Amino acid sequence: MKLVAATSNPHKLVEIREILSGHEIVSARDAGFTDDVEETGTTFLENARIKAQAVAKATGMPAIADDSGLCVHALGGAPGVFSARYSGGGDRENRALLLKNLEGAADRSAHFACAIALVFPDGRELTAEGESHGVILGEERGENGFGYDPLFYSLDLKKSFAEATDAEKNRVSHRGRALRKLEALL
Ligand code: IMP
Repeated sequence: MKLVAATSNPHKLVEIREILSGHEIVSARDAGFTDDVEETGTTFLENARIKAQAVAKATGMPAIADDSGLCVHALGGAPGVFSARYSGGGDRENRALLLKNLEGAADRSAHFACAIALVFPDGRELTAEGESHGVILGEERGENGFGYDPLFYSLDLKKSFAEATDAEKNRVSHRGRALRKLEALL
C-alpha cells in the first residue's frame, strides 16, 4: 500500500520505512503537504490522530502519523507530549534541562511512549501504541539516534539508545513496537 508519513523528522521516516518495509512510504512533503499541524491533543494518541487526519484529508491518501515522547516517572510523566518543546530550544537544550530537573532524584526510571495512527481518506482509522522502558543516565552516552537517546539507558538493550545501532533500537523501541502492532493490524 502507498502511505503518506505525516512527519518531517528524517529519523522517524527511516524507522517507519524500515519497519513497514512491505509498503511504499512517501513523506508528507513529497505528497505536497507542507502545513504545520498544531498538536493540540493531551495524549500521544490524540496528537497522532490529529496529524494523520489532517494529512489524509489534504492528500486523499492513507496517512500514517506518530506522536511520541519521554515520560520520566519522578517528574510526574514530564516532558511527555511536550518532549519536543521541553526547553524551548533544540534536542541538546532539552537534554540539559532534563538533567537539571533530575538532579538529586533517587528514581531515574522513565519510558518512551509512541502512538501511531493510520487514517484512510474515507475516515477509517487504525491505531497502535508502544512503550520502551529505561533509566535516565547522569551523563550522555553514544552518538547515534536523536532527541533524548544519549540519556536513555534501555533496560532491553543494556546500553543507551544512542549506543545502539538502528536495527537494535528498532527491535525494542516504542516506535518499533507500535509500528509492528500496526503492521499486524494492516
Ligand atoms: P513528536 O515529533 O511530537 O512526536 O516529538 C517527539 C519528541 O520526543 C522528539 O522531539 C524527541 O525529543 C522525543 N523522542 C521521541 N521518540 C524518541 C526517540 O526514539 N529517541 C529520542 N527521543 C525521542
